[in-house]
Amino acid sequence: MQMYSEADVDHSCLADSQITILGYGSQGRAHALNLKDSGFNVVMGLRSGGASWSNAKADGLTVLEPNEAVKGAKIVMFLTPDMVQKALYESVVDDIEQGATLMFAHGFAVYYKQVQPRSDLDVSLIAPKGPGGLVRRQYEEGHGVPCLVAIHQDSSGDALKIALAYASGIGGARAGVIATTFAEETETDLFGEQAVLCGGATELIVAGFETLVEAGYQPEVAYYEVMHELKLIVDLLHEGGLKKMHKFISDTAAWGDMISGPRVVDSASRAAMKEILNDIQDGTFARNWVAENENGMPEFKRLMQEDLDHPIEKVGADLRGRMDWLQD
Ligand code: NAD
Ligand code: MG
Repeated sequence: MQMYSEADVDHSCLADSQITILGYGSQGRAHALNLKDSGFNVVMGLRSGGASWSNAKADGLTVLEPNEAVKGAKIVMFLTPDMVQKALYESVVDDIEQGATLMFAHGFAVYYKQVQPRSDLDVSLIAPKGPGGLVRRQYEEGHGVPCLVAIHQDSSGDALKIALAYASGIGGARAGVIATTFAEETETDLFGEQAVLCGGATELIVAGFETLVEAGYQPEVAYYEVMHELKLIVDLLHEGGLKKMHKFISDTAAWGDMISGPRVVDSASRAAMKEILNDIQDGTFARNWVAENENGMPEFKRLMQEDLDHPIEKVGADLRGRMDWLQD
C-alpha cells in the first residue's frame, strides 16, 4: 500500500491557479470552502437560478455558469451527481483550457466511459472516504478525512502532484491519501454501499424489525433494538474495530454475536455478495443504472417510496420526535 501525507505534497504546482468546482452539494460545498480557507483561488460553476447558486454566493464564493467558470481553470472538479457528469462534461469541454486537470471524487463516470476526456487533459480522482459534512467539519477542527488518489490520464506528467496538492487543500493529506486506481475505487465504493453500508445495513435493520414485530413484540421496542442502538455499535467499530466493540459490549452480547452472526450472514449471503460484485465488475450495474436514469427513474422512485412507507419509518419518526437531542 502506498500512502501519501502532507510531507509528500508540493503546493507550488497550484500556485496562483484557479480551481473550478462544478456542483455545490454534499462534497462540493466542503471542497470549495476547504480549498478557499487553504488559500486557493476557487470558482464555482453552477446553474443560475438553482438553489446551489444562492447557497454558494451566501457562503462568499465566486459563482459563474459552468461554461464561464471552467475558463482559465487549472483544475475542473466534477462534484455533481455521477449521472449528470456526462452531459455536463460535454457542455463545458470546449471551454476547458489545454492541459488542464479534470478531477472526480468517484470514478464512475470515467471508469464506465460516460466521460471520455480529451487527450490533452490530466484526469485524476480524489475521493474522500466520508460524507461532505464530515470533510468540512474535520477540516475546520484541524483534522482531515482520509482520501483515495488515482490517476486515469497523465498528460502533463504532474497529475499525481496536482491531485495531492488538491487533497491537501481539502484537508485529506492530514489523514493520509492512499493510492488506488479508478477501477478499484469505483468497484469497491459501489460494492461497499450496496452490500454493506447502505443496502446491507438497511435490509438487515428492516428484516430484524419485521422479525420482532411479526413475533408480537411492540414496534417501539423493536425500533430501539435494531435501529436506534446501531449507532452505539457503529461508533465503537469506527473508533476501535472489533476489539473495541467487544470490550464495551457484555460477554452475553459478544457470545451471541459470535455464534449467531454467521447464521444471518451465511454462505447464501456471501454468494449474493459475490454476485453483486460480479454485476459491478462486468458493467451490468452501471448499464442498468444509466438506463434507469434515461427512463426517468421509475423503479428508483417506486423502491424509494416503498422504503419510506415502511412501518419502521412511522415508529421511528414518532420516537425520534421525543428525543430532542436528535433534532439539530
Ligand atoms: P449532491 O447530490 O450532494 O450534489 C450535487 C450538486 O450538483 C447539486 O447540489 C447541484 O449543485 C449540482 N447539480 C445537480 N444536477 C446538476 C446538473 N444537471 N448540472 C449541473 N449541476 C448539477 O452530490 P454529492 O453527493 O456531493 O456527490 C458529488 C460527487 O462526489 C459524486 O461523484 C459522488 O459519487 C462523489 N462522492 C460523494 C460522497 C458523499 O458522501 N456524498 C462521498 C464521496 C464521493
Ligand atoms: Mg434498502
